[in-house]
Amino acid sequence: MIFAANFKTNHTRSSTAAYLKQLAKTIAPKRAEDRVMVFPPATALDRYEGDFTVGAQNAYPVQNGAVTGEIGLEQLEEFDIRTILIGHSERRELLGESQEMVAKKFSFFKEHGFEIIYCIGEPLEVREAGEEAVKAYLFAQFEGIDLSYEKLIVAYEPIWAIGTGRSATTEAIASTHAALRSKVTVPLLYGGSVKPANITEITAIDNVDGVLVGSASLDVESFSEMILK
Ligand code: PEP
Repeated sequence: MIFAANFKTNHTRSSTAAYLKQLAKTIAPKRAEDRVMVFPPATALDRYEGDFTVGAQNAYPVQNGAVTGEIGLEQLEEFDIRTILIGHSERRELLGESQEMVAKKFSFFKEHGFEIIYCIGEPLEVREAGEEAVKAYLFAQFEGIDLSYEKLIVAYEPIWAIGTGRSATTEAIASTHAALRSKVTVPLLYGGSVKPANITEITAIDNVDGVLVGSASLDVESFSEMILK
């Protein structure tokens, strides 16, 4: 299983360092085959010691240059960051990141050999329109994305389940992941209100190879509990 923590705009540089120091200790007894990933805010990127991978939540597809407010490859290379989240719904929805831009980022970081967690997910009105509508919406988010990329991980995160405390049902996750499995052979993560209370149920679903966790990952005890369950 893959356990990925997305801090979003939470934690500082010092609280991230304290968190990761603690995480390294608490996950020492984890199953050897499980992988842990943490995506802190850009200001907290650094080299950290522990059995986890630190990745970037976002970066602009440039080595460096005139892109005010963004970070590029150079700022990630400084800390040997080789993993990135691309396509998160908050970037698509709040920051207006188009499929074209998402695909451009994907190609750039693929060319540079990054491991990519590529996020997809539908809004509530699409979910309410039924399974076929969900599939069409999600498959459209694969436009311009090389699904055969060997360092790809796909994260399915229904937008209506993110940060709402309302996870998708086991049935909805199972059927959506089965549909995604017909398109990709890479690991499939589920994200959307994953927490200690539902982790066992979610990780037991067919075609779920891991989870991407927001809110419930902010506390190191809570995230560790999910990993060790
Ligand atoms: C996320 O946005 O990646 C996420 C899964 O958030 P939460 O766990 O808070 O729903």
